[in-house]
Amino acid sequence: MTFRIRSDLDSLPVYVPGKTFPGALKLASNEVTHGPLPAVAEAIAQAAAGVNRYPDNAAVALTEELAKTLGVTPAEVQVGCGSVTLCQNLITVTSGPGDEVLFGWRSFETYPLATRIAGATPVQVPLTGDAVYDLDAMADAITERTRLIFVCNPNNPTGTVVSAQTLRRFLERVPDDLLVVLDEAYYEYMRLSPGHAYDALELRREFPNLVVLRTFSKAYGLAGLRVGYAVAHSEVIVALGKAHLPFSVNSVAQAAAVAALGAQNQLLARTDAVVAERDRVTSELRTLGYAVADSQANFVWLMLGDDAVPFAAAAAEAGVILRPFAGDGVRVTVTHREENNVFLAFARKWRTR
Ligand SMILES: *Cc1c(COP(=O)(O)O)cnc(C)c1O
Repeated sequence: MTFRIRSDLDSLPVYVPGKTFPGALKLASNEVTHGPLPAVAEAIAQAAAGVNRYPDNAAVALTEELAKTLGVTPAEVQVGCGSVTLCQNLITVTSGPGDEVLFGWRSFETYPLATRIAGATPVQVPLTGDAVYDLDAMADAITERTRLIFVCNPNNPTGTVVSAQTLRRFLERVPDDLLVVLDEAYYEYMRLSPGHAYDALELRREFPNLVVLRTFSKAYGLAGLRVGYAVAHSEVIVALGKAHLPFSVNSVAQAAAVAALGAQNQLLARTDAVVAERDRVTSELRTLGYAVADSQANFVWLMLGDDAVPFAAAAAEAGVILRPFAGDGVRVTVTHREENNVFLAFARKWRTR
């Protein structure tokens, strides 16, 4: 049968679910290994008792908590069903056929897919040799048709960040009516030295075209509940509100996110252990002779080229699920010492095979 489905979707890849098996160590999706804190689990149980009711479509309580925590107004915050949905909606409200969405590559796979679903054209600027977003080249790639720019920082899957200086220089070059989305899904794992640190929310005051995306899926440990948020100029938030799929942030997710914000000190304290492990795993891998990017996220990027797929396949045989990108590299989530050691044992064996 041939149905009346848009033929331009023919070239999009068919989604293939990641393979896993019982007992496998899953280091493929940048999740935290801890389950929810007791206070969060309690909020989830309470909210579950009320799922006969629709959720608050405006997520008022969560939006207000976020605004308070971030030092912005509720009119500058939009909650979404995961920040992937906000990526999608940012594309929807800015871009259509003939328009260009600009981002670095390799980067987050949602960007090219969502761009093409919207009928717009992805413009992918290669990363630098150190696997960092090349912001100078991206500024050069801006055209009349550019409608949206993504800067994934830290970048998924390489973990790298742009420097404060290049980011500022970039923002100064971007036309002030062109939105720049700083996707900070791994923000809580960044540990930049004082001279190199930057605060995206501060930068927004100077560059109102800056949109900051964050999520409860990573450091806050709520990947299964799907909550992310955008901080942006109120005009952008109004547009995002129009594209918002009604009731898509469910009531359990909203309650859990409020509780997680309440426990943020405890949750953020956990990131210190992951950061220490990230640095240990990176240096051990380099000692073994692997080319590993400088990561500021809860994962590391092994630049394996054509070995990426065979490496991940052999790891899976050894019971460790990783995320390969064919011909390019392998992304490995960093969790706690015991799990990381299982991966390192495999990595050591691979070198001496
Ligand atoms: C994980 C991730 C997200 C967050 O996704 P959610 O939809 O909030 O779970 C967003 N951007 C990047 C780059 C990510 O890696």
